[in-house]
Amino acid sequence: MQLHNQTIIPDNLINPILQLSGKHIRARTPDVLVLVTSLVRGGLTKGTAFNYHTISSKRLKNSTSSRILITDGGWIHLRIPPISSVSSSKMFVQRFWYVCLHEWGHIFDLQNGGPKRLPWSKDHRQRWIDRPEEQRAELYVAEVETKIHLGILKNPISILTELENWIDTYQVR
Ligand SMILES: [Zn+2]
Repeated sequence: MQLHNQTIIPDNLINPILQLSGKHIRARTPDVLVLVTSLVRGGLTKGTAFNYHTISSKRLKNSTSSRILITDGGWIHLRIPPISSVSSSKMFVQRFWYVCLHEWGHIFDLQNGGPKRLPWSKDHRQRWIDRPEEQRAELYVAEVETKIHLGILKNPISILTELENWIDTYQVR
């Protein structure tokens, strides 16, 4: 996984969460690019998975060339609220975990079914939750959550708690 983290959260807290969620969904994670940026205002963490295999490096910090990067099976953009605006670190990490799973679900689809599995969404298409690709992603998330509950898959609690603690510590500084 190529992590491009433009937030104040350290890479070593984000990386394990992305790795484990991708593994649980059974996506091929190694060459997928994940860009994490901050939203200007507060709100919920948002994610988008893209069905094309290129990204302009202009979008990536510390990259001066306009080289196009090739990724394996699309790429993911996660947008998180400013940490100072987070009122519950527990809710933040739970939402972050869910969004990671959901977006890896789209990547899994792409890697296994090709670009038609993740059509570009226009606003006037079906309601978000009525789209087949969103229903599949939600199904993958539900399967993972059930397997964690049953002890079949590793529980992410320790890595989520690390991020939670970091947020709590950051906010009292
Ligand atoms: Zn989605």
